[in-house]
Amino acid sequence: MKRKITFENFLSGMPARDYIFQDYSYDDQIVRAAEMIREADYVLIGAGAGMSTAAGAVYGGKWFEENFREFREKYGTGPYMQDMYSAGFYPYPDEEAYWGYWSKQCLLGGIDADFTPLHKTLLKMLEGKKIFCLSTNADGQFAKAGLPEERIFCTQGDYFHYQCAKGCHNKTYNGISMFRQMDQARKDCRVPKYMVPKCPVCGGRMNMNLRIDGYFVQDDHWYAAEKRFSDYLNEALSSKKKICLLELGAGFNTPGIIRFPFEKLTAENRNIRLVRLNLNEAVIPESISERSAGINADMKKSIEDLAALV
Ligand SMILES: [Zn+2]
Repeated sequence: MKRKITFENFLSGMPARDYIFQDYSYDDQIVRAAEMIREADYVLIGAGAGMSTAAGAVYGGKWFEENFREFREKYGTGPYMQDMYSAGFYPYPDEEAYWGYWSKQCLLGGIDADFTPLHKTLLKMLEGKKIFCLSTNADGQFAKAGLPEERIFCTQGDYFHYQCAKGCHNKTYNGISMFRQMDQARKDCRVPKYMVPKCPVCGGRMNMNLRIDGYFVQDDHWYAAEKRFSDYLNEALSSKKKICLLELGAGFNTPGIIRFPFEKLTAENRNIRLVRLNLNEAVIPESISERSAGINADMKKSIEDLAALV
């Protein structure tokens, strides 16, 4: 028998009045959020692209035009060569061109990038708490800011590793020294043929270890981080102590990884508080609004204001 779709199950059980306009003042919300963080024994950070942006990461604009000038001259200034995100999707004609571009993005966007003062402010604010960081960012800035690797789970890969393009085996390779050599040798946006890595198993091409298609490799390191994350969350939930989910700039690009699970956890556990910081997407479902604070503002200011109160 066919199940009839009602409005309620169309909404996946979420009350229809959720996601209404919320009218709280910034100062009130900061005070509420600071209290939620202060009282928590466990703080699970969920960091999206907005965290890196607030911390000072630059991807586009004049910075991109200056640093990727030769790529814009070679490939045109069309839809791809606008910023480091779009340029990654350019259909590079061959592997010499692919690595010519990516070696530069990895160095500028992650390996040599250092925009960690805000990350450090955040970690200092959370001193003494049991913390863990779930992140969709590839730039490695939480580790650079001093958070131990065993407290971080980067679900979407990073700018430091590469893999078989077809994911034929379950391993990733550290690319730091390779990218530096490529950076030195790059001419006309391309690296020499002898520098192009080949898969040691199938002999095929290799790609960045970033979740951009169905071939993303989750290696032993990934599964170990997943297990540490799951152990942390289970310990926090079974402790019955206070838990704060601190969501930082996780918008609607991949809301299924941090944003929606955080809402679900908050809805299902009375001892959880949700603090959502976002430039303009900090809306909170009304059904969990009493235990949540959503703050629409420049996160650099919000984090600094919170740090002064916690
Ligand atoms: Zn392979």
